Amino acid sequence: MITKLVKVDAERPDLNVLREAADILRNGGLVAFPTETVYGLGANGLDAEACKKIYEAKGRPSDNPLILTIGDLNGLYPIVNKVTENAEKIIKAFWPGPITLVLPKADCVPDTVTGGLDTVAIRFPSHAVARELIKLAGIPVAAPSANSSGKPSPTRASHVEFDLNGKIDMIIDGGPAEWGLESTILDVSEDKPVLLRPGAVTKEMIEGVVGEIDVDPAVYMKPSADIVPKAPGMKYKHYSPSASVILVSGSRDNVIKKINEKTEEDLKKGLSVGIMATEQTKDCYKAGKILVVGDREKPETIGANLFKILRKFDYIGADVVYSEVFDEDGEGAAIMNRLNKAAAFNYIRC
Ligand code: AMP
Ligand code: MG
Repeated sequence: MITKLVKVDAERPDLNVLREAADILRNGGLVAFPTETVYGLGANGLDAEACKKIYEAKGRPSDNPLILTIGDLNGLYPIVNKVTENAEKIIKAFWPGPITLVLPKADCVPDTVTGGLDTVAIRFPSHAVARELIKLAGIPVAAPSANSSGKPSPTRASHVEFDLNGKIDMIIDGGPAEWGLESTILDVSEDKPVLLRPGAVTKEMIEGVVGEIDVDPAVYMKPSADIVPKAPGMKYKHYSPSASVILVSGSRDNVIKKINEKTEEDLKKGLSVGIMATEQTKDCYKAGKILVVGDREKPETIGANLFKILRKFDYIGADVVYSEVFDEDGEGAAIMNRLNKAAAFNYIRC
């Protein structure tokens, strides 16, 4: 298959391009498109055969359900069998935007989308390209992240091209994704909301609207026999480059010293060593391939760059990557959740 790559303006996309993409979706094809979180891989969310193609293209395990995206609020009601009170509050406060809601599913949603669950995950993205495309398609669009399963989510069209070229019909390039980490996932199917995946809409922001919520333990602990994530996708080693990622935590000086020591040891063994540094520390490392993920004073820069930098370590062939860690407050929770997964919770504490 030849994958068509088309550039559009992120704010005022060419509607002719989006019409062509919408036709592909309605006819059972696959289109990758930008959203405010990461690039999504779209298919007709009511067509089980089309959704199967998403699993095939990504190499995604079939028990990992997809997210259905909608282009306006009216798109919600046909695909759920109940909108809970908390869902209504969250929708008013944060939609369109980077938060996905899990609700009881309607019969029209195929099992291929939900992995056999009786709930469905739904998002109404705010990105102009995503919204217009879904509206033009006139169907709910199943859209998980447009990466090969297990690789870091794509924040640029070039990442999608690298993973999926030749496997999908079209890639719409709308420039870099603004937020850079996947959406928050909140289960509002029962009385007390449960945070399944942290993202741009933080726990604190959600609690400001619906009061105290629960957090699925798999958000901050390594999945095990006792800790089975409620979002099936969270159990897989995710977001990871080919290198082993090791997180180094402790005081600033101890972390720098430890990373320098480990780098020297590994270089002696003939390994290619990457270091994920920040603007604040980039000049403190002596050897290895040092990449700056962002500015500690501006956590949004770290969120926006994290997946791009993890992919870069693959590109430059790092065998091992040492990374600093970040505060888990607010948006830091999403950053540390993804980093913990990339590192499979592998820590050096010093
Ligand atoms: P992705 O869009 O690639 O980040 O993948 C979608 C995420 O949503 C995965 O982690 C899924 O496990 C999760 N998800 C989808 N549907 C449900 C559902 N009904 N209940 C819980 N989690 C879900
Ligand atoms: Mg994904």
